[in-house]
Amino acid sequence: MRVYNTLTNSLEEFKEIKKGIIGFYTCGPTVYDYAHIGNFRSYMAEDLIKRYFLYKGYKVIHVMNITDIDDKTIKKANELGVSLNQVTEKYIKATMEDIDTLNILRADHYPRATEHVDEMLALVEKLEENGYAYRKENSLYFSIAKFEDYGKLANISKENLKLGVSVDTDEYEKEDAQDFVLWKGKKEGERFFWSSDKFGEGRPGWHLECSAMSMKYLGEHFDIHMGGVDNIFPHHENEIAQSQCGTGEKYVNYWLHVQHLVVDNEKMSKSLGNFYILRDLLEKGYDPMVIRYLLVSTHYRKLLNFTFEGLEQAKQSLKRINDFIFTLKGLKPADGETAGITGLIKQSEVKFQEQMDSDFNISGALGALFDFIHEANLKQKELKTGDIDNILDFMDRLNSVLGVIKKEEEGVLDTEIEEKIKQRTQARKEKNFQLADAIRDELKAKGIVLIDTPDGTRWKQGVAPPTHSRSDR
Ligand SMILES: [Zn+2]
Repeated sequence: MRVYNTLTNSLEEFKEIKKGIIGFYTCGPTVYDYAHIGNFRSYMAEDLIKRYFLYKGYKVIHVMNITDIDDKTIKKANELGVSLNQVTEKYIKATMEDIDTLNILRADHYPRATEHVDEMLALVEKLEENGYAYRKENSLYFSIAKFEDYGKLANISKENLKLGVSVDTDEYEKEDAQDFVLWKGKKEGERFFWSSDKFGEGRPGWHLECSAMSMKYLGEHFDIHMGGVDNIFPHHENEIAQSQCGTGEKYVNYWLHVQHLVVDNEKMSKSLGNFYILRDLLEKGYDPMVIRYLLVSTHYRKLLNFTFEGLEQAKQSLKRINDFIFTLKGLKPADGETAGITGLIKQSEVKFQEQMDSDFNISGALGALFDFIHEANLKQKELKTGDIDNILDFMDRLNSVLGVIKKEEEGVLDTEIEEKIKQRTQARKEKNFQLADAIRDELKAKGIVLIDTPDGTRWKQGVAPPTHSRSDR
């Protein structure tokens, strides 16, 4: 299995540190507003990669941080005159709801910065002890001149850094423009601060949380760290500096970065009117699984151009998969199994794996899936019951990676729907058409379409109606 490592700018053979277990850290949301579809593009690419490792039989320990201490959350709390928690709780809840709606597997840990200030301070103390930090005014800074490898991840030399590739303008007390803050001393009138015996009142720098929290839950040296490309510099560069200078160990083996999302080939921005949060799209009537399909179907290292035509195409592709499964479930063939289908499944799964093993080439993997559907459809008349079971199992395995058919929902719904259909059939026998229609409408509202056939009533999933309202924005 080969993955593209930003640290070495090359495709590398993947090898985990501890056999069968992967430590997986992904940079999470800053919870001062709703997450937008660009954020979800990253979370979804990370989810696809995590799901593929699970499919391959690895155990994945996934940690995603919640940034609840930073300039944006503090600014909003000050504007509203409320506590930090009162701002962040609402958006943490909303983000979790969106994560579930998009069928993104939950992480094992969602550590919050506010709950890990002690761990961050411990790391800062180590950095000062090891001689990488200096005090200026009442703040503490990391001196990049002391860390030889600084700039390696972003592939920027120290000379170029001096030319001012990126400067945090608000931190004017620093010795070197590129030095970054570890502990921001409290300024006059600031409402949110923490206390340290050593460094006084203040708050931790933003980069610190990911170093301290990833190492707390995954150990000082772990396998994979992911995030958007905009995190490479300075965020991830600074994480490496803090962690390695604090522990003396290598921090992360593989750095994987997700490209940006643009809308109609333009940068998404509120002023251009092309800025979408998930709830905007649900309100327009889009099925979350269609949105998911669109966001996972572009390779994570390629720019994703989000368009409404793209959503329509995603809808058609997803419909092909769902129709294929629906048709199979309705066939009533003879018992047995055919060698042709068993072979076709095997061959297709190998193709799917070859593509995903090659830095998660999703386009090729989806190609293998649709080729399979095409071939299996041609053989529809020859299928036996065992073939159908084998095909449905195969589709389940692929969906465990793609996540575009919501299984848990289907599981609950299956029995519920069958029960409702029974009630409706009974009502129709008793000529209680009012009740029969009411049951049909009730299911329709849940996105379930009933089809009456000579063999009885069957059902399929239609477009799910929007489930979230925008009234709380
Ligand atoms: Zn981070």
